[in-house]
Amino acid sequence: MVAGMADRFYINSRLAPGVVELEGAEAHHLATVCRLRPGDPVCLFNGDGHEYPALVRMVARRAVVVEVTGATTPKRELPFPVEVATPLPKGDRAQFLIEKLTELGVTAFVPLQTARSVVHPGEAKLDRLQRTVVEASKQSGRNVLLRVGPLTSWSEYARKERAGLRRLLAHVGAGALSKASGSAVVLAVGPEGGFTDKEIAEARTAGWEVVGLGPRILRVETAALVLTTWAIMCQ
Ligand code: SAM
Repeated sequence: MVAGMADRFYINSRLAPGVVELEGAEAHHLATVCRLRPGDPVCLFNGDGHEYPALVRMVARRAVVVEVTGATTPKRELPFPVEVATPLPKGDRAQFLIEKLTELGVTAFVPLQTARSVVHPGEAKLDRLQRTVVEASKQSGRNVLLRVGPLTSWSEYARKERAGLRRLLAHVGAGALSKASGSAVVLAVGPEGGFTDKEIAEARTAGWEVVGLGPRILRVETAALVLTTWAIMCQ
């Protein structure tokens, strides 16, 4: 939870002053985990960039009623878009990656299909990642949700026209990062087995900068977080 802020709850619908019913996981979280009661202040968000202070009005086993009292627009987003593309790491490491990218303010995540990818996420896995985005947004105070894109092939992604965006691809052994020049960035990291020479050549031809992150081999999620942090802090 953000310091000094009421417990936050996500609702996938339009919000405005007035009465709103929460159901499912959010109602359970409010009533059973946070043990909130009528009169307690909460904060709702739906990903539209605003947050909505509210008061709990009624708490039942499966549904909770709250009353939205206003709307505010705190500045918690990055001043420029950051898109990160990686093949999904295995198991819980994918959730970890998405949680941290959400906390860092990343705009969009694209799961990549590369020659050496191992994980090929289906609908259920992508839905779980979306739930992780919501949980991390509740915790970090984000009011805009990180977008999780569909599985995209590296060749298609590498060649996509991105006018005005700096595109950086992390590759073991490449030259160190230089000072950033632009603002919005697209960042790509390879699978555990690395990008193939052909994939790196495709990226160079399409205008990507191929950059190194130091002499040690980082796991996919570590490399993605290092590259993202650098892109955010060095603009
Ligand atoms: N043996 C693989 C190779 O040499 O490419 C290791 C792949 S690494 C576990 C997974 C991905 O993280 C890489 O494809 C790259 O995108 C990124 N990565 C890991 N360590 C890196 C480093 N020191 N410099 C740049 N990228 C790195």
